[in-house]
Amino acid sequence: MRVKDKVVIITGGGSGIGRETGILFAKEGAKVVIADVNEKAGAETVELIKNAGGEAFFARLDVSNREQAKQVVKETIAKYGRLDVLINNAGIIQDALVVKMTEEQWDKVIDINLKGPFNCIQAVVGQMISQGSGVILNISSIVALYGNVGQTNYAATKAGLVGMTKTLAKELGKKGIRVNAVAPGFIYTPMTEAMPEKILEMMKEKTPLKRLGTPADVASTLLFLASDEASFINGAVISVDGGLLL
Ligand code: NAP
Repeated sequence: MRVKDKVVIITGGGSGIGRETGILFAKEGAKVVIADVNEKAGAETVELIKNAGGEAFFARLDVSNREQAKQVVKETIAKYGRLDVLINNAGIIQDALVVKMTEEQWDKVIDINLKGPFNCIQAVVGQMISQGSGVILNISSIVALYGNVGQTNYAATKAGLVGMTKTLAKELGKKGIRVNAVAPGFIYTPMTEAMPEKILEMMKEKTPLKRLGTPADVASTLLFLASDEASFINGAVISVDGGLLL
């Protein structure tokens, strides 16, 4: 087992990449906290994990709420006594061309995708420092490196996460905490289901591997980065995109 007895918080663990990651980590021996704003979806993920013999609990969390983030960390430590991995996975899109993007669309995406990870990192970092170990994984995106029409807000948050990842890798490395990011390409999840089929087909054609990604492609990368196998990887942004950018 690659993450045996590690305690892992996964934000947005109710759906897509977060759900798949929770299931995989539990299979590999982790104690998983599924922290999601969507109670039904989060509880379903926990049930899937438990039905497969894994250990997990659900905590309601809106990542843009700092007090809730602190509360989830408190509950996790009360239940499992430690905290090894934070996966900042929760994210949303509110797409519009820049000429039409409302201030509300901008603020909402910044609050959840960028301030959310900051809130969660501040909530976990004290515990990780006192343990002298920890792993923080941020889910960026191919659009952070490449841009995407209609996603000024989203691309800004995902590029912001790259800057945060590298800065925190420098700040926290000496405390025994590794900070890395993954930058997925186009992955089949409820988030991409909302995108026009034409765009997804185009992305598939442009990808040298001639397919879109699956949540499992991202989950296995996160598992590697969280495990001791990646103990000298810090401040990296790993693309999981089938070579789309080449
Ligand atoms: P998803 O299927 O939409 O799942 C996201 C989960 O996060 C949902 O359960 C959602 O709940 C929850 N959530 C939304 N707002 C939240 C909040 N404020 N606090 C806590 N949880 C919240 O998305 P996904 O495709 O798996 O994406 C996961 C991450 O990967 C995101 O950060 C996304 O930007 C990133 N990513 C995805 C792709 C892709 O192609 N899918 C590519 C690159 C990066 P609701 O369902 O109720 O909204």
